Amino acid sequence: MCGDARPEHVGETMTLAGWAARRRDHGGLVFVDLRDRSGVTQLVINPELAPEAAELAHSVRNEFVLRAEGDLVARSPETVNPNMATGEVELQVRSLEIVSRSTPLPFQLDEENVDETLRLRYRWLDLRRDKLQRNIRLRAQMVGIIRREMEAAGFLDIQTPILFKPTPEGARDFVVPARLQPGRFYALPQSPQILKQLTMVAGFDRYYQIAICFRDEDLRADRVQEITQLDVEMSFPDQEFLFQTMERMYARIWRECLGIEIETPFPRMTFAEADRRFGSDKPDTRFGLELEDATEATRGSAFGVFAGAEAVRFLRVPQELSRGDLAKLEEVAKEWGAKGLAYLVYDAEGEVRSPIAKFLSERELERFAGEPSSTVLFAADTWATTSRVLGALRLHLGRELGLIDEAAFTFLWVTDFPMFERDEDEGRWTAVHHPFTRPTDAWKDRFHEDPANALAHAYDLIVNGNELGGGSFRIHEPEIQARVFDLLGLGPEEQRTKFGFLLDALAMGAPPHGGIALGIDRMTMVLAGEPNLRDVIAFPKNQAGVDPMSGAPSEVTPQQLDELGIRLAPPPGRTPS
Ligand code: ASP
Repeated sequence: MCGDARPEHVGETMTLAGWAARRRDHGGLVFVDLRDRSGVTQLVINPELAPEAAELAHSVRNEFVLRAEGDLVARSPETVNPNMATGEVELQVRSLEIVSRSTPLPFQLDEENVDETLRLRYRWLDLRRDKLQRNIRLRAQMVGIIRREMEAAGFLDIQTPILFKPTPEGARDFVVPARLQPGRFYALPQSPQILKQLTMVAGFDRYYQIAICFRDEDLRADRVQEITQLDVEMSFPDQEFLFQTMERMYARIWRECLGIEIETPFPRMTFAEADRRFGSDKPDTRFGLELEDATEATRGSAFGVFAGAEAVRFLRVPQELSRGDLAKLEEVAKEWGAKGLAYLVYDAEGEVRSPIAKFLSERELERFAGEPSSTVLFAADTWATTSRVLGALRLHLGRELGLIDEAAFTFLWVTDFPMFERDEDEGRWTAVHHPFTRPTDAWKDRFHEDPANALAHAYDLIVNGNELGGGSFRIHEPEIQARVFDLLGLGPEEQRTKFGFLLDALAMGAPPHGGIALGIDRMTMVLAGEPNLRDVIAFPKNQAGVDPMSGAPSEVTPQQLDELGIRLAPPPGRTPS
C-alpha cells in the first residue's frame, strides 16, 4: 500500500495504485504524491529513465487514479521528509498508467473551510480527506468492538422491521404510505423499543442490535433524523451486569481505538443529586463550580426577589468579574429563562461590590461571603428554572474560564429519574423516559397517587456532559402498564389500537426485562473529538434534512401518487392558486 514503503524495502520493485494527491512538475523531473487509504508515497518520474511515463505524467491532475511500477529508492538526506511516514523513500517510476481521470475538482482535498453544502454535494470527494477517513474508520472499528463485546456477553443480534407502527420516544413519526392498504401508513420506528421487549417475551433473553431510529425532529446542530444506536435488552435484568457489560465495552473501545485506559466502574449519581449539584441531568463532571443553595438563608430577606422565590441558588466563581462580563452573563441567564442576574463581586481586598448588598442582612452576607477576587451569581426562581439557568451559566463559565480539562473523559451513570413531567401547555403528564419504563420498587404501587414525585428505574450514561444514551427496567405487568397509559391520558380504546399487541404479549407470560440504548453517532463524536455530528456519518443530510448529493427528498410522479391514492395539498402557508 502507498503508506507502507519504508527504508528496509529499498531496492524492491513494486507496483502502487492510488490517487494523485499532488503533482509537482519541474519541467524535467515530475513528482506525484500517490495516496490510498493507508497513506502517501512520493513517485519520481525522470524523463531520462522513463520517457513514456514522464510524457504521461505531465497530463496528470489531482485525483486522477494512477498505477505506477518502479523501484523503491532512498531519498537523498536533504530531501528526506520527516513529517511523512514514507518520507525517507520514493518510488523511481519505470512505467505509469492513468487508470482513471478526474474532471476539475469543486474543491481541493487539502483546502480548509470549504462550504459544507459543497462538501456534502460532492461527498465522495469529501470522504477522501484524512479527517473523514479517520472518523469513518474509527466508527467501524468501534462498532466491531461493540459487536464482539455484546456477543461475548451472550447477546443475540436480532433485526427488527423498519416499516412498523409508531413507537413513542417523544419525536414526530416519519410515515410511509402503504400502497397495498390504501389510506394506511407505516411509521418508521423511533426506536425498536416495543419490538425488543417482545423478543424478551419471546424467550430470547438477551438481545442487541445496531439499530437505525427515525425521528422527525426540527433539526438543531446536534440532531439528525436518522440516528444509529446500540440497542440492548435482557430478561431478568440485573443492573450491575448491564452496567458492567457497558463499562467493559467502553473500556475496550477507548483502549483499542485511542490507547487510553478509562477507569471503571463509572461513578453514579442520582438525578436529584445531579440536579442539585450541577443543575443538569447530564452534568459535565470534568470541572467543579457546583451550585449552592441559599433558599433557607434568604427566607424573609429584605431583598424581595429572594424572599418571594421558590428557590434561591448560586454559583461561586473564582474570579472578580467586570461589569462587562456580568452583562454578558446576564444575557446568557436570560436566554435560559432568568429574569435578571443578581451578583456580589468581591474585589482583591475582599470588599463587596453589588447593587443588592444593601438589601441583604448580616446573616445573608455571611452565608455568601466569598474569597477575595471572586463573584457570586444568583438565580431566584422556581427550582427548575434555577437549575436550568445556573446549569447553563456553569457550563458557559467552565468553557470561558478554561476550567475544563479537555483531555479528560469523565463517564457517569445518572440514575433514579423522575417518571413523569408535566406538559404545562397541554396540561397533561408525559413520560420522562418512555411509557414502558418501570417505577422504582418503592413507587410501583403508588406512582399514580403522586406522579410529580414518582421515580423511575431509569438511567442515563453521560460522558463529558454529553448524554450517550439511556435505558430502564420495563413494566412487565399489563395492569401496571395500563395504569401508566391511563395517567398519560390514553383512554382504554386508544390503548387497544396503539398498544393492544404489547398489552396482549405482557398478559402471556412476560419475564421481567430491561435494557439500554446508546447513540453510536454521539459516541463516535466523543471518541474522534469531532464537534460536527455530520462528520462522523458517511452520507448525512444537512440541517434542513436535505441530502445535497442526491437531492433527497425529491418529488414523486403523479402516477406514484395515484397508486397510493394520495393527492397533494398546497404546502402549508401557501394558498391554492
Ligand atoms: N428505547 C430507548 C431510546 O431509544 C432506550 C431504552 O429504553 O432502551 O432512548
